[in-house]
Amino acid sequence: MWTLVLNCGSSSVKFALLQAESGETALLGLAERLGGPEARLVLTRGGQKTESAHPDVSYAGVFTLLLSELERLGLREQVGVVGHRVVHGGEKFSAPALIDAAVLESIRACIPLAPLHNPANLAGIEAAQQAFPELPQVAVFDTAFHQTLPPVAYRYAVPEAWYSGYGVRRYGFHGTSHAYVAQQAARMLGRPLAELNLVTAHLGNGCSVAAVSGGKSLDTSMGLTPLEGLVMGTRSGDVDPNLHEYLARQAGLSLEEVTDALNRHSGLTGLSGLSGDMRQLEEAAAQGHAGAVLAVEVFVYRLAKSVAAMSVALPTLDALVFTGGIGENSAGVRAKVLGRLGLLGFSLDEAANDAAVRGGAGHIGRPGSTPALVVGTNEELMIAREAARLLDSVRPAAGGQA
Ligand code: ADP
Repeated sequence: MWTLVLNCGSSSVKFALLQAESGETALLGLAERLGGPEARLVLTRGGQKTESAHPDVSYAGVFTLLLSELERLGLREQVGVVGHRVVHGGEKFSAPALIDAAVLESIRACIPLAPLHNPANLAGIEAAQQAFPELPQVAVFDTAFHQTLPPVAYRYAVPEAWYSGYGVRRYGFHGTSHAYVAQQAARMLGRPLAELNLVTAHLGNGCSVAAVSGGKSLDTSMGLTPLEGLVMGTRSGDVDPNLHEYLARQAGLSLEEVTDALNRHSGLTGLSGLSGDMRQLEEAAAQGHAGAVLAVEVFVYRLAKSVAAMSVALPTLDALVFTGGIGENSAGVRAKVLGRLGLLGFSLDEAANDAAVRGGAGHIGRPGSTPALVVGTNEELMIAREAARLLDSVRPAAGGQA
């Protein structure tokens, strides 16, 4: 049985067709700029990439293209389940859910918490239900892994009525990735996940760290929304909560303008005045671009500070795990971060660090260092596994009688 994994954004659809057990991947797809004149579909099969233009194609149009591709591959009938990445599950979902009307309603109820993401996820689910009406569909939530946070980590020091009335608390995101790399780290360390205390750092365009003890998340840097915490590509991460009022008074900015700037024009982009892309910034920094140098240094400092803060949630620190585009590829960022974390027992093996790029997982600490690992994340595989596990758990009764 193949699992189709879908990650539907506001103007893009990412999909993967894979085997939950082995991870074998028959098809990867990225449809982007949907609804616009430059809409395109990039497919990868057997390591071969093809790109095609589909001006103004809609969500539904992408699913028609996907169906015909599955038929071409002769795999249409072998898809057993569709797994959806859903960004916000609020306090309602601490595990994946088989999608029915009630689950759809609960995802809809979380829209105020993720106004950009959840509507796109819902549109993707509805399009997939139309395209694959006979298949079970499973929602896998970015927030679910962090539902094990204790109140001391998830409550903000704000009026209680904001929590009870409006759900103002830390939820955390990137849960699928943190959970996956924690499992992989246990393998690399040759120890059971149940006895490990890890800090995992997911560093992509969005960035977050998590404290993971015995496979459970105990704290994480993102909060009510994915804006809190680390410096990111275009997001500010932590700022003084008085910022909105200050800028409204001093610069005449509206709430929406400040929020938009904090989400889309801040972070590495805002600091460097150049780009939110770490690779580009490292190149510019090497050429002496002052904004790029500052952006990388602030990114690293705040990341190291957050790793140290996360370790407070753990009884010991058995390893730090780097993942995501930056974590998996930027030897420079990793070296600088470990350089600031001598206090936690880290010391860098430079050669191993330089070698761990482009998917090369590995240990990057010297002998005697607190272990530091580079691990490739694979959210699609994790979603496929979670979907398969959920189906297995609801099917045994039927299977047993057959
Ligand atoms: P997303 O969060 O959109 O999935 P990725 O996980 O692909 O993003 O991470 C994108 C980030 O990874 C970008 O900042 C990019 O510059 C960075 N990155 C990718 N390759 C390298 C590299 N070789 N060196 C430094 N940064 C890199």
